[in-house]
Amino acid sequence: MNIILLGPPGAGKGTQARHLVETRGMIQLSTGDMLREAKTSGTEMGKKVAEIMDAGKLVTDEIVIGLIEEKLQSEAGAGFIFDGFPRTLAQADALAALLAKLGQSLHTVIEMRVDDEALVKRISGRFTCGNCGEVYHDETKPTKVEGVCDKCGGTEMVRRADDNEESLRTRLMEYYKKTSPLIGYYYAKGDLRPVNGLADIDEVTASIEAILS
Ligand code: ADP
Ligand code: AMP
Repeated sequence: MNIILLGPPGAGKGTQARHLVETRGMIQLSTGDMLREAKTSGTEMGKKVAEIMDAGKLVTDEIVIGLIEEKLQSEAGAGFIFDGFPRTLAQADALAALLAKLGQSLHTVIEMRVDDEALVKRISGRFTCGNCGEVYHDETKPTKVEGVCDKCGGTEMVRRADDNEESLRTRLMEYYKKTSPLIGYYYAKGDLRPVNGLADIDEVTASIEAILS
């Protein structure tokens, strides 16, 4: 079963994807994570994307489609969770073609609905464990012991360079201009299932589980 988690930055896609990985053994394909890894690798591609990401703009379709193609060919499990991909209509078409080539298809597109005011609060309070990537929030999901990851005991907490108000404004504009048309695209295909992303983390998880089972 392959699914897309679709929603604006801060909607809770990564948080829910990690849950599905733990409970269902699915594979999370986050283009944001892949690009952040590329950014620190010192490669030519890394240098090229770093500036674009920090400014909150979208990286080119060619680069992200290439990253996804590589993962689809090299990883296997109980289905893929596309997190932060596709973000443009060209990426959505490319994904359909890549899945068809592998004899696979898309099961569901989960649209995580959240209002813009909540996004600012979510993004400005987000931090992750530098070791295992668990996602936290200063107010809605703090670590049980300050500075120590609940999952792995790691003590290096990371805040993203693009999690500031200025970059968020650009990221939101990119989302509305280039990504939100995907809601209509997948609705017309009959694949779209909305969930209330404003609910508590556990309630969102339950809504997604109800859709998938
Ligand atoms: P995305 O991957 O869509 O950008 P994240 O999963 O990283 O979003 O979540 C953004 C921030 O909001 C994180 O700090 C996370 O802990 C918090 N968060 C996620 N889902 C919820 C929720 N349902 N309620 C409150 N806070 C949430
Ligand atoms: P995310 O981790 O999903 O919030 O993505 C962080 C940043 O990575 C975005 O603001 C973009 O610069 C870049 N990015 C991630 N996924 C994509 C994508 N599918 N297409 C283009 N750019 C992307």
